[in-house]
Amino acid sequence: MEQDCIFCQIAAKNSPASIVFENENLIVFKDINPHAPVHLLIVPKKHIRSVNDITPEDSAIVSEMIFTGKEMAKQTGVNESGYNLLFNVERGGGQVIFHLHLHMLGGWKR
Ligand code: AMP
Ligand code: ZN
Repeated sequence: MEQDCIFCQIAAKNSPASIVFENENLIVFKDINPHAPVHLLIVPKKHIRSVNDITPEDSAIVSEMIFTGKEMAKQTGVNESGYNLLFNVERGGGQVIFHLHLHMLGGWKR
């Protein structure tokens, strides 16, 4: 755990978040500044900086993040209308929190 990482702090329950799902490997919470009617962040409990830093050892958790995104879409009722699963990678890719996370965005009326 990185002391100055907000997502490590949320995973450790040292910082508040609107948590919607959690298991031993990952935590899912509502984005504090949503860009869609449904905007969740799927976050591994292990601190990994970005997609650039994932290794073959992380295959299981990265896979679990995507499956959890699919499951969260179903649970929040946006699966049929459709959604985005998005990784921002490093500053040029729009990443501002340097702890790996998968955005799940959906629920637009269109
Ligand atoms: P990214 O640009 O991919 O790094 O996205 C980081 C996301 O984390 C942004 O959409 C922020 O609104 C969100 N965020 C930052 N701090 C918090 C927090 N404490 N709780 C929930 N979401 C957060
Ligand atoms: Zn972290």
